[in-house]
Amino acid sequence: MACDNNARFAANPMSIPDRERVYADDSWRVAHSFDSALPGWLVVLPRRHVTAMHELTAEETAPLGTLLHTLSTALHDTTGCTKAYLMFFAEAEGFGHLHIHVVPRMPDFTDDVTGPRVFAYLKQPKADWVPDDEQDHIAREIRARL
Ligand SMILES: [Zn+2]
Repeated sequence: MACDNNARFAANPMSIPDRERVYADDSWRVAHSFDSALPGWLVVLPRRHVTAMHELTAEETAPLGTLLHTLSTALHDTTGCTKAYLMFFAEAEGFGHLHIHVVPRMPDFTDDVTGPRVFAYLKQPKADWVPDDEQDHIAREIRARL
């Protein structure tokens, strides 16, 4: 899916919805997680198919620190999160394309969704996922702050 959307974006940036292009440069694209029940759950994806950090080039790696900081700041400003969690595993079946989760840690988080347990937000029924139009709205709000 990451590669499909990268290809569509490369052919025509406007062919994918706002939620799939929160941010993009030559190396990275940022999307709102399509299956999250938590508003503002972002994923940072390389523009080419890479499955491990050690496969990245120096040119791809260099801007990553700044990008993660900028996204964390934008999430703080738009969602009121106390910090942003950063995680990379790419272990789920069909999701081997490197993707770094940038997740707003909200002030009202309870114990059962704190730390690694935050992935509970990716295991909810589809009816509880953030609706597409809300994902698009969040994407535009974040993009405006980058
Ligand atoms: Zn891929």
